[in-house]
Amino acid sequence: MSIRPSVRALARYHFTPRTSSVKLDQNESPFDLPEAVKAAALERMRADAWQRYPELHPRSLQRALAARHDWDPDGVVVTNGSNVLLQALVIVAGIGQTVLTVAPTFSVYGLQARLLGAELIEVPLGDGFALPGEALAAATVGRRGIAFVANPAAPTGNLHPRRALAPLLERAGEDWLVVLDEAYADFAGSDHLDLVAENPHLISVRTMSKAFAMAGARLGYGLMTADLAAEVRKAVLPFSLSGLQAAVALAALERPDYVRERVALTAQERARLFRGLTDTAGVEPFPSVTNFVLFRVRDAEAVYEGLLQRDVVVRRQDHLPGLSGCLRVSVGAPEENDAFLEALAAVLATEAVGG
Ligand code: PMP
Repeated sequence: MSIRPSVRALARYHFTPRTSSVKLDQNESPFDLPEAVKAAALERMRADAWQRYPELHPRSLQRALAARHDWDPDGVVVTNGSNVLLQALVIVAGIGQTVLTVAPTFSVYGLQARLLGAELIEVPLGDGFALPGEALAAATVGRRGIAFVANPAAPTGNLHPRRALAPLLERAGEDWLVVLDEAYADFAGSDHLDLVAENPHLISVRTMSKAFAMAGARLGYGLMTADLAAEVRKAVLPFSLSGLQAAVALAALERPDYVRERVALTAQERARLFRGLTDTAGVEPFPSVTNFVLFRVRDAEAVYEGLLQRDVVVRRQDHLPGLSGCLRVSVGAPEENDAFLEALAAVLATEAVGG
């Protein structure tokens, strides 16, 4: 096979699809888009000429996203899901240089670094999943490249405070780009756009997959300077965002009230889920500002399988460094969270799994 050895050695993206009726494994929104948004999206799609290529770069969507964040439309890069933008960033600033991140974190940074042949440096998180700010800054010395920090962090769910980010952000400059992956910022109620506005070497990556309930439609974007955006767009394949995707995003951005309401419900349910986990013997949950909660049990595999047997699917995280025994549950609809907590208590009550 002429496949490059580094590709053959690469692990695949870690995900096993399941058909459980309580689906809490992908940090999706438990609710579909409101009917009014779907109707508006379909109307836009019908009005489009499908035989024509879409815009090379979706200007009207860039403008709508820029308006949402009070940003320069030329500094908005829109892609087919934020994973695609993360890849584009590794292409423009990682290949032949260094990709720097932490461990554990969202797997795509490391997978793309390996796939594309960038040097990969992963600095372990500290106690309580704290960002190793000084160690990250130290790793940049004598190198060039791109650093990825998911903040809110995934899959740990915590928010790294600004003082922890400071040493790394100070290193962002001619030799380093720093990416703040703010996929879960909507749930945390805060973001770092003010820092991105101050520093031309910082980028904020966003997704409409979570709070906007558009994981199926696929829409991600980055906020950066117009100069940087012009370079990053070179690595985004021409016409890779379909007009149909843009139509859904525009329809959602015109009627964003549902996002605020659902974020508020997620926060309530997250608190309830956390209390429920805390009150379950044999479970150690970790505080979260996102739409998921990481928790530790004695035997992650047995609990995962036991939940599956009770028609509930969560995500295993126990293969990640520092996360032995850990599972991750997405915040679902109230009745799904109830079903999960009930199933978990039942699984842990069985002798083999509790303990
Ligand atoms: N960043 C983080 C931290 C994520 O958890 C995810 C989704 N799992 C993504 C990016 C990618 O999201 P999408 O490609 O759906 O925009």
